[in-house]
Amino acid sequence: METYDNWIDGGFAPPPGGRRMATANPYTGKPWAEVADDPAAVDDAVRAARRAFADGPWATMGGAERARLMRRLGELLSREAERLAGVETTDNGKIIRETSAQARGLQSYYDFFAGMADKIGGEQLPSPSPNFLVYTEREPVGVVGAIIPWNSPLALLTWKLAPLLAAGCTAVVKPSDITPVTALLLAELTAEAGFPPGVVNVVTGGAEVGAAISTHPGIDKITFTGGGVTAKHVARAAADNLTPTVMELGGKSPQIIFPDADPEAAVNGLLAGIFAASGQTCVAGSRAYVHRDVVEEITARVVERAGHLVLGDPSDPATEMGPAASDAQRDRILAMVDQARAEGAVVAAGGVVDERLGGRFVRPTVITGVTNQTTIVREEVFGPVLAVMAFESEDEAVKLANDSDYGLAAGIWTSDIRRAHRMAKALQVGTVWINTYRNVSWMAPFGGFKQSGYGKDNGLEALDGFLQTKTVWVELSGATRDPFVIG
Ligand code: NAD
Repeated sequence: METYDNWIDGGFAPPPGGRRMATANPYTGKPWAEVADDPAAVDDAVRAARRAFADGPWATMGGAERARLMRRLGELLSREAERLAGVETTDNGKIIRETSAQARGLQSYYDFFAGMADKIGGEQLPSPSPNFLVYTEREPVGVVGAIIPWNSPLALLTWKLAPLLAAGCTAVVKPSDITPVTALLLAELTAEAGFPPGVVNVVTGGAEVGAAISTHPGIDKITFTGGGVTAKHVARAAADNLTPTVMELGGKSPQIIFPDADPEAAVNGLLAGIFAASGQTCVAGSRAYVHRDVVEEITARVVERAGHLVLGDPSDPATEMGPAASDAQRDRILAMVDQARAEGAVVAAGGVVDERLGGRFVRPTVITGVTNQTTIVREEVFGPVLAVMAFESEDEAVKLANDSDYGLAAGIWTSDIRRAHRMAKALQVGTVWINTYRNVSWMAPFGGFKQSGYGKDNGLEALDGFLQTKTVWVELSGATRDPFVIG
């Protein structure tokens, strides 16, 4: 059993009240590390972040120097990628192929935003009168509370940390209680990279620690990734302090397959969309709308492929699908499949745990015989469950796809370029993939419409979210003005 303390003010700090919790390996079901779970630590972290923001070397550091530190952090993350990927797989059960690729990819995010750090500036505005010089400045928002989920801890933390560091903010990070360790390891690397103490702080723990962040008056902005129910708690708490929030939430993303699509590519896309990461991704393509001319063929191919996916030890590079991230998550997935059966669904593949693997894996599941009214088609499962439905016309496909509370992403499979762009315009989602699925990158803004949230991670919009504009008016003429006239 390993033990980790919080990371506060440039070093490991034991929880002030001594409260700790265990984190388990979802593959073995056994606890493997103990971390702090103490809401009292949040105040220490916020104070450290405030000091670093207001008084320390970070406060006066130029963008070029911030960029240098960020690039160094990126290099260290690449150096440590395999170790970090191993810990991530131990903590959340995601296959090593994916955690490794994600860990190796982190550097590019720090590089991209480092490239922006020394280009942040305001503008001189056209003045209403020659007597005035008017300009804007772009300033960091201050101390940012970053609350992270368990499905891609390092990547989703990086999506927030890289732009906020580029902006000149400081951070109090709370990773998920299910996957607390890698954020601490990343924080330790910030010290090696040369970041001043207090710029990055990590406080582990559960809902109480999260709530201590979202209610803290010393936090200037909250960026949250997680589920909608938690998001509403966070947004309500933040509202009491008028703390602005960014919300990256769940989805029920449609994949729409037209008869002119390359069937092999479309089936690959469906599998990648729903079975990668055991369906535990926010962009899981969990609703397949397939044109009635090809629905039988596509469903048969997906069912066949689903039956041959390699389930097993997530740390084995040959494994294609790992376990559910927790027993509670597995039970929730199975309960939703049972409810779908009760509502008339046909389970064409999976729908059960894999007993050979100790009952922690839900077999890749394909469901038919459902409509947009079936609960499993409306609610996020966060598991390897694909619902397949038929459509007849492009208009109907758009209506069915948009008939959802969520609006995170969508996939379109067609060889008709005009139709592809018509569909992209009509879909009410934050990301559209055409003849591909699940691409994300540092330069592409990512975030949802509707109940999938607001604000963006990645791209220049993410940087913008951590900056605020100050307008400066300078009187140039020295003339005395009428004190009762504004102008
Ligand atoms: P969650 O909402 O249960 O937890 C998210 C984080 O909030 C965790 O760190 C958790 O400890 C913390 N938390 C819990 N209660 C809190 C409270 N009362 N106040 C403050 N913080 C609290 O989500 P999860 O189960 O960790 O992650 C799965 C969800 O995240 C899914 O809905 C998924 O779609 C979503 N997600 C969204 C994106 C995206 O970018 N849009 C990416 C990945 C995951």
